[in-house]
Amino acid sequence: MATVFIDGSTGEGGGQILRTSLALSCITGRDLHIENIRAARRNPGLAKQHLSCVKAACEICSGRAKGATRGSMVLDFEPGRVESGNFDFDIGSAGSATLVIQTVLPALFLAGEASTVTVTGGTHNPMAPPFDFLCETFLPAIGAGGFRGSCKLLKHGFYPAGGGKITFEIRPTEKRSQEIFNLCEASKKFQIKSRIYTAKLAEHIAQRQEKLLEQSSLDIQDIEHIEVTDSDGPGNCAMIWISNNERTTVFTAFGMRGKPSQEVISEVVSLAGDFLASGAAIDHFLADQLLIYMALSKTGCYTTNKLSTHLLTNVEIIKKFLDVDFSIEEDGSVCRVSYQPV
Ligand code: AMP
Repeated sequence: MATVFIDGSTGEGGGQILRTSLALSCITGRDLHIENIRAARRNPGLAKQHLSCVKAACEICSGRAKGATRGSMVLDFEPGRVESGNFDFDIGSAGSATLVIQTVLPALFLAGEASTVTVTGGTHNPMAPPFDFLCETFLPAIGAGGFRGSCKLLKHGFYPAGGGKITFEIRPTEKRSQEIFNLCEASKKFQIKSRIYTAKLAEHIAQRQEKLLEQSSLDIQDIEHIEVTDSDGPGNCAMIWISNNERTTVFTAFGMRGKPSQEVISEVVSLAGDFLASGAAIDHFLADQLLIYMALSKTGCYTTNKLSTHLLTNVEIIKKFLDVDFSIEEDGSVCRVSYQPV
């Protein structure tokens, strides 16, 4: 089978191009040559999180990688046969544990037996799915498509200290029905809740953020503060849960030194508010993460509130490995994305 050539500077030009390519190389058994890795990022090339993704991909399929060094912008990956098992990866930094898990999930779901993946690193990182999103938004969404599992947070890890731990149990994929991934309709009845996490920070920060949430334009029914006691370093994030009978969407904004609470709360409120106003069924983060599962299932459609470059880029990368396409239509305030056979 011919090697798949990927230009990592395409579209979004970030780490997802590498992760999707590794996942699909494992699944299809096709060799991968990727250049210009993360060319559009401030610190291009392979960082610790991406090296962990490469190492994880090698481990699940006894694959081989050339160029897997810090800062490398070129990688050759030769996959072997994917085998289920118990895997333990340590990123060795606050790199996102959820993104390492997401790299190996698709292949392990198809591997026939149950697997467990445990990753040490960041569990609540900016620019990555936080654990709560993985567990409460992403997992139920792929579960609707027959990709079932469970996840547990063993220890919190905030950027920059890291040191958190997540374990993900993968159940082998059951026979999938044709109705799966029909995430097009959104019910108009929502419950809105909020959670503020703080670790090793002054109490007034959470108090101020709670007050700002109460004063926000959203009708938040419950605001909870969790003081995290098992974290290696300081951390803060504000989350908004939007739940209806069908699904839960978790939006997150991160606090960091020098960023006023006002900014943290207005960021998360505007993410949630834009989504609610659109009438879309799923948020734009889940939208790019679901594509690979739709492609593997050869079915599915959803409506989302924004066509991100992550989404558009991921479509192009998936098409390099699989004979699939997606139709993308803008329909008023929502974008409808559907699997298309070719
Ligand atoms: P990349 O920037 O290419 O490394 O990809 C980042 C991935 O993290 C994408 O799949 C995003 O959808 C996902 N992501 C970033 N921020 C969030 C968030 N706040 N909630 C859920 N997923 C996120």
